[in-house]
Amino acid sequence: MKMAKPHQKICIAIRDAHVENVAPLIAQARGECGFIELRLDYLPADSIRVDLLRSWKEQAGVPVIATFRRKPNGGEFEGSTAKQLEVVRAILEAGVDFLDLEIETVEEHLGGSLRSLPPSVTKLIVSSHNFAETPAGLAEVYDRLAQAHPDVVKIATLANCYSDNLRLMQMVNRAQTDQMPIIAVAMGELGGLTRILAPSRGSLLTYASMEKGKESAPGQFTASELNEIYRIDEIQVDTRLYGVVGYPLGHSLSPLVHNAAFQHLGLNCRYLPLPVKDLKDFSLCLDWFSGLSITIPHKLDIMHYAQGVDSSVREAGAANTLVLQGAQWHAYNTDINGIELALAGPFRAGITSAVLLGAGGAARAAASVLKRKVDHVVVLARDLEKARAFAGSYGFGADRLSRAGHYSADLLVNTTPVGMTPRVDESPLPDDLLNYRYVFDMVYNPMETHLLRAARARGHCGIAGLDMFVGQAARQFELWTGQTAPVNLMQSVVRRQLEANHF
Ligand code: NAP
Repeated sequence: MKMAKPHQKICIAIRDAHVENVAPLIAQARGECGFIELRLDYLPADSIRVDLLRSWKEQAGVPVIATFRRKPNGGEFEGSTAKQLEVVRAILEAGVDFLDLEIETVEEHLGGSLRSLPPSVTKLIVSSHNFAETPAGLAEVYDRLAQAHPDVVKIATLANCYSDNLRLMQMVNRAQTDQMPIIAVAMGELGGLTRILAPSRGSLLTYASMEKGKESAPGQFTASELNEIYRIDEIQVDTRLYGVVGYPLGHSLSPLVHNAAFQHLGLNCRYLPLPVKDLKDFSLCLDWFSGLSITIPHKLDIMHYAQGVDSSVREAGAANTLVLQGAQWHAYNTDINGIELALAGPFRAGITSAVLLGAGGAARAAASVLKRKVDHVVVLARDLEKARAFAGSYGFGADRLSRAGHYSADLLVNTTPVGMTPRVDESPLPDDLLNYRYVFDMVYNPMETHLLRAARARGHCGIAGLDMFVGQAARQFELWTGQTAPVNLMQSVVRRQLEANHF
């Protein structure tokens, strides 16, 4: 199969109020993308001249889309339609590669057809934006745009739920059938699926920001994320899809790790962030995927969608992985594998006693491992009743977290989030009460928590949450692909990212 050139389907939009900034921004964007959109509506209208447009087009080196959208239609230009059409004529005269004109202007001032514009080499995009929703009648929106005789139709709508992505992708299919070039964009944080996949299904491009913090819409990825992590230009219709389902996802490390592993082994697979609030709505999209990571708050409810449940789920009391086996979804818990991997050294050396801090979801996975491997375990939690109820189901002892100083053991396992970024100076127990040979902190951001530093300073062996994170991800990878996970690569990818302090 013929591969597209990298970056070909990414469009970076340049929005700046100062004419003198446009050329430097084009210089920054080129090389990162296959299209540059000049949002001329951000500039003073009188500063837009044919010679400038020509020089920007020449400088860009990739196709340029010129947009001069009026405020009532979602743009920045506050002047009249007569002035808008004056700028449109300048764009056509300059021969900019594409003009993006909103359907409202076409219908109200051009008799509904772009054919009334002066002839030009410029290709005409007619666009519809809905910043409130993805409306029920998307097909009517498409028909309305197609009637304007454009070279390309563009539909951008806000995704309020996951299935909005599906409906937008159906429009991409429809346009493919009609041989009508289309740009489809699901805006908002729930639109990420479309931002990554629409080009592979026929959308001419997808929008990206030049760098983090410069997103022009929530949920937008940076061009380098789309290029390097998701490699969107190489996604094909038969690329197997995976992803992490949870809410909020924050800056999950999982896409980075799994995509790097897929690429390393040359697998035609991609792993997407799926910030899902409503699992029932997301279940309409399940057919797209071959495997999923499941995180908070869906680790219990996801089991309604699984036809098979592995013993690891019963052991840990929750699922963090779905695997498609034949036509059926099977639920697994790989946190247990991650914990076993992280604690392999101490278990080999011999552990007879352990103290477990916290009584939440991750503590349950840890408790099921400790139950098999350790004789005496005490659970400490800030709420004594919770500690007792939790410990009771495993036959462990229980106490308040504030009484941690009364305990010492071979192994301490922290499953509370204390010490996590940004509160990196905190620790679940005072440094001088650390009486443990091994200290395992599940927190992995930062890599070296205060608790781990204090333990190592006292000569104890510190085990980082990173080891568990990579262990659980590696097991997921193996369940999905049937191949041995490149653990060292996965570990170094996470380490590099955490060291670069991108999170
Ligand atoms: P969870 O279900 O919310 O449980 C958190 C536990 O910590 C609860 O017992 C909670 O007590 C306790 N806790 C919360 N804040 C506390 C505080 N300020 N002081 C003392 N105790 C506190 O969360 P989880 O899913 O178990 O995750 C817990 C941690 O493990 C997170 O940091 C997570 O990132 C980490 N984790 C790491 C990995 C890995 O691969 N390394 C995997 C899973 C989880 P209450 O019930 O009283 O609120």
